[in-house]
Amino acid sequence: MNMQAGNEAAFRAEIAEFCKDNLDPEVRRLSDLGLPVGEEAALDWQTKLVARGWGAPSWDEEWGGSGWDMRKLFIFEEEMAAHGAPLVGTFNIKMIGPILQAHGDAAQKAHFLPKALSFEHVWCQGYSEPGSGSDLASLQTRAERDGDHYVVNGTKIWTSGGHLANHMFCLVRTSREGRQQGGISFLLIDLNTPGITRRPIHHFYGAHVFNQFFFDDVRVPVANRVGEENAGWGIAKSLLEHERLFSARHTEARRKLGRLRRLAHEVRIGGRPAIEDAQFRDDLAKRMIELRALENATMRALERLVDDGGIGPYASVLKLRGIEVNQRLDRAIVQLLGPDALPAQAAWEGGALDGLVPEDARNAAETRYWWRGPAIAGGSQEVQRGIITKHILNL
Ligand SMILES: Cc1cc2nc3c(=O)[nH]c(=O)nc-3n(C[C@H](O)[C@H](O)[C@H](O)COP(=O)(O)OP(=O)(O)OC[C@H]3O[C@@H](n4cnc5c(N)ncnc54)[C@H](O)[C@@H]3O)c2cc1C
Repeated sequence: MNMQAGNEAAFRAEIAEFCKDNLDPEVRRLSDLGLPVGEEAALDWQTKLVARGWGAPSWDEEWGGSGWDMRKLFIFEEEMAAHGAPLVGTFNIKMIGPILQAHGDAAQKAHFLPKALSFEHVWCQGYSEPGSGSDLASLQTRAERDGDHYVVNGTKIWTSGGHLANHMFCLVRTSREGRQQGGISFLLIDLNTPGITRRPIHHFYGAHVFNQFFFDDVRVPVANRVGEENAGWGIAKSLLEHERLFSARHTEARRKLGRLRRLAHEVRIGGRPAIEDAQFRDDLAKRMIELRALENATMRALERLVDDGGIGPYASVLKLRGIEVNQRLDRAIVQLLGPDALPAQAAWEGGALDGLVPEDARNAAETRYWWRGPAIAGGSQEVQRGIITKHILNL
């Protein structure tokens, strides 16, 4: 697990150099501000990472992974964030890839993994339904066997990035017998199959992130079922664990801290740079300590993942805390900026704010709004508290 200090410094320098040579300054600027970099730039960045052997570092080497230990993976993510690399293809690289490696059959791995790595397939997650969010096991979208196909009918909602995706990993009901959890299967659906309709859902501030999908007699090959029929709940749970581990979002918090620190030199409190204000410095120190604790906790969880093969309910602790740390940093940025956090994107794009408002103020309020979402996605904060109470505190 331990990397020699000299090797670690060399590895960090290698990543820094790679970013310097390959990262378009505009993409870096957008990533540092927490803005989407666009499909073309994401694909371009992933192509460069794949060429370097860094496209999916956590995967098995056989499928293009790096073979690094957890410490090295952690450093990789940390350095990539520090140098402004965009976070791309989470559903592909951090969700469906690991799931297929753990639960897929040989044909599924050979077909889907290379295309997930190259982004030829762009994946989205079809779990939630109207009325089945926190209570996911109650889901109703049904898949009925018809020869070597399933016929799928129902709807999925809150599908992030579904408008950009061409594939969905999906939970469907294949049995109504016994416990709800025991009648769910895990299906891979090509979104170009006839019978699928998408409806965009816009955020209250205008962004198009979500979608609702409707399935009317959609024929999906049985060969696209991952794992046994009615055994999808176990797979879904292991994916949610991955999702919650990722939800600690310590690298995004590190970027936000960088932004807050830069702003502290530009924005003035009582006529002096904020960084010289005692109250601000005190708050900044708290945010730095919280983030360091989150990073250490994430590192410990990764070690546990290696030693015990899973982190179980501790993923909920990371999710809960990671969201809090991120939201506090967003709030600190908005509070420091005051009204300068509010200008609309159009004003920035028109150049009306050049020189008047720090560039780091861009998108500050929108980022704060956006980060209300992850507190609900992948299991709400209340649900995480319930898991911790039951499975860690044994109350
Ligand atoms: C940003 C974002 C991205 C998302 N992306 C996706 C995606 O890509 N794919 C996908 O399938 N879904 C996605 N979702 C949906 C998400 O998984 C659900 O919104 C979430 O599971 C909550 O379900 P719900 O919206 O139906 O709310 P409900 O389950 O109806 O919850 C309503 C309220 O009740 C509380 N509550 C519910 N049950 C309990 C309980 N047992 N104990 C205490 N409080 C409880 C909740 O905390 C919440 O405050 C996304 C959601 C968001 C916000």
